Amino acid sequence: MGRLDGKAALITGAARGQGAAAARRFVAEGARVMIADVNDDEGKALAGELGAIYQRLDVSEEAGWAAAVDRAVDEFGTVNVLVNNAGILHFSELAKTRLEDYERVVKVNQIGTFLGMRSVVEPMERAGGGSIVNVSSVEGLAGMPFLVAYTASKFAIRGMTKVAALELGAKGIRVNSVHPGMIDTKMVQDAAGGAEIDLSWVGRKVALGRVGQPEEIADLVVFLASDESSYCTGAEFVADGGATATHALRI
Ligand code: NAD
Repeated sequence: MGRLDGKAALITGAARGQGAAAARRFVAEGARVMIADVNDDEGKALAGELGAIYQRLDVSEEAGWAAAVDRAVDEFGTVNVLVNNAGILHFSELAKTRLEDYERVVKVNQIGTFLGMRSVVEPMERAGGGSIVNVSSVEGLAGMPFLVAYTASKFAIRGMTKVAALELGAKGIRVNSVHPGMIDTKMVQDAAGGAEIDLSWVGRKVALGRVGQPEEIADLVVFLASDESSYCTGAEFVADGGATATHALRI
């Protein structure tokens, strides 16, 4: 028996990285999955491989959300789980950050999460409840230099999660945030300068001595999506190899 048997899930940003790892785990645990992304090629290929469905969705666009949720309800009958995973990163010094770059990050990470949560309230209420998993970051718990927009958006996700949990608990809808540390995905590889860049020196700075793998976040997301987390809501789930355990200036 799968841990997500009978559940229908919509996962944003699932064409690659942590979202793709979650989609794989969800299908393996018995869920029906909609992969929603702007990366059509990788999204369609993964959906084909997993027997999931692919939906083009730019999470920052309001109209696209209605279409995605309507299709999920049409094809699956309902939506039990939403994983707001899509996100983008922009490195720049505060004093040199352009407004358009700040707004672009906030639109995808923060507004995308808001629109996603809002879109599933009705179908989840009709289904008698559900689970929303919002992917924040350790940058939703503490600051990181050169990531002003990203950090703002990830703190916002952490806050919105609590408001949604308080409002939606009576409807049986649980809402939690996930806070990964550095995970080996294309987002981090691109930020570091390419897939060939050795990230092991960053990993050595955390208690577990290594960067994380997307599957290690997917396991946490499965737990939050499943009934195993039935008493968890409004909470922060950290998977960071111990990165936020310290206040030391140097490790
Ligand atoms: P990734 O760049 O590998 O994957 C992100 C996915 O989101 C891609 O498939 C991309 O096409 C999609 N996407 C981007 N903009 C979108 C939009 N407007 N609408 C729909 N889809 C869009 O990144 P990842 O590392 O897998 O990140 C997944 C999530 O985890 C993000 O929210 C990220 O901020 C967060 N996170 C990542 C790390 C890390 O170290 N990798 C750490 C903490 C949090």
